[in-house]
Amino acid sequence: MDKKELFDALDDFSQQLLVTLADVEAIKKNLKSLVEENTALRLENSKLRERLGEVEADAPVKAKHVRESVRRIYKDGFHVCNDFYGQRREQDEECMFCDELLYRE
Ligand SMILES: [Zn+2]
Repeated sequence: MDKKELFDALDDFSQQLLVTLADVEAIKKNLKSLVEENTALRLENSKLRERLGEVEADAPVKAKHVRESVRRIYKDGFHVCNDFYGQRREQDEECMFCDELLYRE
């Protein structure tokens, strides 16, 4: 392999890496929106369970389970507040809206 071939091969290789990098970024973005959608659905599910609990006899027990599951979602690193519903908390940032929701009695 002469020098020109070597440089051409390296050029091709770096082009491929750029394409791969763009693919990885696209997958990451997709995954992020899927995870956020999933979290929003988990929250919706919790709320619906809470509603269901209200119309059933063992409501206090169910409400406790709902609170626990919402806390778990928050601990997993997602917003549970209405303002940023289901979005990721970047670097586990604190959120006063979530706090208010989690710790009000
Ligand atoms: Zn929040």
